[in-house]
This record gives sequence, C-alpha cells and structure tokens, in this order.
Amino acid sequence: MSNVKLGETPPGVEGAGFFATSLDKAVGLARANSLWPLPFATSCCGIEFMATMGSTYDLARFGAERPSFSPRQADMLLVMGTIAKKMAPVLKQVYIQMAEPRWVIAVGACASSGGIFDTYSVLQGIDEIIPVDVYVPGCPPRPEAILDGVLRLQDIVKSESLNRRNTPEYQALLEKYGIV
Ligand code: SF4
Repeated sequence: MSNVKLGETPPGVEGAGFFATSLDKAVGLARANSLWPLPFATSCCGIEFMATMGSTYDLARFGAERPSFSPRQADMLLVMGTIAKKMAPVLKQVYIQMAEPRWVIAVGACASSGGIFDTYSVLQGIDEIIPVDVYVPGCPPRPEAILDGVLRLQDIVKSESLNRRNTPEYQALLEKYGIV
C-alpha cells in the first residue's frame, strides 16, 4: 500500500469506494433528515407554517414532511404564535410528552420573546418554560425564514453527540426547567 502513488488505485479495491465516519455522525445525519414536526400554533405565525408545508416552499425537501399531532411521535416542536400564560402549562406538558431526543424551534417574535404583547398575560418567550434550540425572528417570519430555522436545527442535530442526553449538563438543563 505504501508504494501506491498519488492518483493510483490501491490494489484490491478497484471499482469499490469506501468512506469512514463515526456512529455519532451517521445517526445525526439520519435524524437531521427525518425530523417529524409537531406544530404548536396559536396565532398568525401558524399561517406561515402552513405556507412552509405547501408545494411552493415544500418543507418535504428537507425530510420533515410528516407533521405529527401526537407529541409521542414527533421530535421537532415548532412553537408559533402568542403563548398566553394560561397556555404555558399545556405547551410544557406537550414538551414533556415528547420522547428524547427532542428539539424546539421558537418561530416568530411572540414565541421567541412575547413580541408586541409585552403584557401581564403573555409569556415573554417560551424559553421561560422549555429549552429552545433555534429562534426564528420575524413578525411573522416568512416561510424562507422558517426553512432557514429548520436548516439551522438540522446542523445542530447533525453535530449532536449520541451521549448528550445522558450528560450532567443536559440533565441540569432539564432540572432548571423543572422537567425530570
Ligand atoms: Fe402574530 Fe407577529 Fe406574534 Fe407571529 S410574531 S404570532 S405574526 S403577532
């Protein structure tokens, strides 16, 4: 093998290709390209998600065409719209019901920070009650921005270690939110 010159095919592997990777990367690639979204839409931003799922923007291109309305069968929670404090326990329960690994995208200003509703009855960002992986800005964000958020989440999923969910750091994050 050491006598093989640059550009030559080593003997014994003619016609065969090979690649090397780690299990983390292989699983991450599979997960990232088969995310199952759970749309949690309470108001206007939800309409943009409907457009994102339609044929023009076609979220299916990125492997996420299978929306689930059961938390048990979804791993990408998309929160869209104003979350009133009365709705907060429901959202948290939905998150808790999702199996690991699970990821969260806050779509739009309301989900990210309360948006224009700086008032006593509205949650000032869903990260007050659950961990968020990606924030999509906009009021409302256009479908392209939502797609960009999904692509950013895919990058996170691809680079996540299989052990991350078992680490003390992750457990501490859940404890911080009162999720055990
Ligand atoms: Fe509506 Fe804007 Fe809030 Fe989205 S961010 S739910 S468009 S008010």
